Amino acid sequence: MSESALRITEIFYSLQGEARTVGRPTVFVRLTGCPLRCHYCDSEYAFYGGEKFTLDTILAKVAAYRPAFVCVTGGEPLAQPNCLPLLAALCDAGYEVSLETSGALSLQGIDARVVVVMDLKTPASGEVKRNDYGNLALLKPRDQVKFVICDRSDYEWARFKVSEYALERRVEDVLFSPSEGQLAPRELAEWILEDNLPVRFQLQVHKLLWGDQPGH
Ligand code: SF4
Repeated sequence: MSESALRITEIFYSLQGEARTVGRPTVFVRLTGCPLRCHYCDSEYAFYGGEKFTLDTILAKVAAYRPAFVCVTGGEPLAQPNCLPLLAALCDAGYEVSLETSGALSLQGIDARVVVVMDLKTPASGEVKRNDYGNLALLKPRDQVKFVICDRSDYEWARFKVSEYALERRVEDVLFSPSEGQLAPRELAEWILEDNLPVRFQLQVHKLLWGDQPGH
């Protein structure tokens, strides 16, 4: 029996709303806590509270859904050191595992089987100073970099970063998402087309289906 424990906000089964496995039935393990405070955060309920579970309990709860895909999210999951053994254990159990992370904490030590979906925080997020650009050297080709874009100047900034770091050559997918309620999705789509950017536009499918209802 493993003694490792993590503080968990929720474990639930839904459709993946974003990134490359969008639309796939997925179990989400949402870890509690985040050192950032993005203006547009939609998971503030994960900042505090939660319940402590051992690694074995988490694995049992995940297994009960018999998933193919497991997404470890937050909050900022890497803020809990035991996130690393959790990721490795989920891979050992045979799941296809992804990790959603803010890009502010080091990716060092993450199991190589995990697909990392890493944000680069834009100026309008309020947390642009937290980006750890050292992480870009740790990304694998299968990983993904995500920008949540709030306005035109965020778009210009993100476009510059894609080109500055040749992101489309580092990772399979560079994701541009409009910040909900701040930027019209169609406007972002048209900017991407005008500039013929090597990025993937995405909307959060779970929000189209279920809004902000918890458990999705
Ligand atoms: S990193 Fe994610 S969870 Fe943390 S404040 Fe920003 S959007 Fe919210």
